[in-house]
Amino acid sequence: MENPGTVIITGASRGIGKAMAKAFAGKGYNVLINYNKSENAAKELYSQLVEKNLSVELCRADIAKRGEVDFMVDFCIKKYAGLDILINNAGISQSKLFTDIEEHDWDEMININLKGVFNCAQSVLRYMLPRKRGKIINVSSVWGIVGASCEVHYSAAKAGVIGFTKALAKELGPSNIQVNCIAPGIIKTEMLDSYSPQELDDLKNSIPLMRLGRPEEIAACALFLASKDADYITGQVISPNGGFVI
Ligand code: NAP
Repeated sequence: MENPGTVIITGASRGIGKAMAKAFAGKGYNVLINYNKSENAAKELYSQLVEKNLSVELCRADIAKRGEVDFMVDFCIKKYAGLDILINNAGISQSKLFTDIEEHDWDEMININLKGVFNCAQSVLRYMLPRKRGKIINVSSVWGIVGASCEVHYSAAKAGVIGFTKALAKELGPSNIQVNCIAPGIIKTEMLDSYSPQELDDLKNSIPLMRLGRPEEIAACALFLASKDADYITGQVISPNGGFVI
């Protein structure tokens, strides 16, 4: 199988990132699976993919911590003698009334969902910029576009990721590095565990396609943005959301 390149996927132990790791490894990419807390899940995914003779590596790093991110990026470049794509997928969510959000909730949300994107992008650019080649794909959310009640900190961080994407795309265009954003709708992962069955039913009923999205559908979007077919796309926000936000 032809090797299309090397990709770091943050938060690949579960959910959307896991589906991305499977999809990219299945297409022949070298995949660095990043995780933070879910060591067992990450190791299980790693073993599954290695058994299929796919090219994967595993690295724990908290994306909110720059030192750990630099270690992960250096580890990847050493293992695979290069790096072509960064997917900033890792993230957390929290549902709270705005008036109940405490300072540490706010800081944690911004540190992981926004500063984590900054940390990882700046770290990979040490390698990509001198080579004038690379792609960065950031995962935002529909809530970053339209805002979610009881998720003000999450929405603010995800809106920040969209602004970050557009600004960085302009700055890096002359260096031939594409920066794009995926803003998923409601996708069936553990992130939805805080929603009650009734809330999920109500959400489904407000989605024109009448169902939640699947992690594999977000992975397919990332595969496209990472491919040569997307070389002329930069600074864009693609929102696979079943028509929820149009
Ligand atoms: P998930 O199932 O909860 O998985 C989150 C992933 O992020 C896990 O692999 C987790 O790793 C990782 N992560 C969290 N904090 C981290 C940190 N500090 N450092 C490194 N990794 C960290 O969530 P998901 O639904 O797949 O979400 C993936 C992305 O899509 C997130 O950015 C989320 O905001 C976005 N999104 C999701 C939805 C949805 O409906 N599911 C909709 C729109 C956008 P560990 O468990 O190993 O710590």
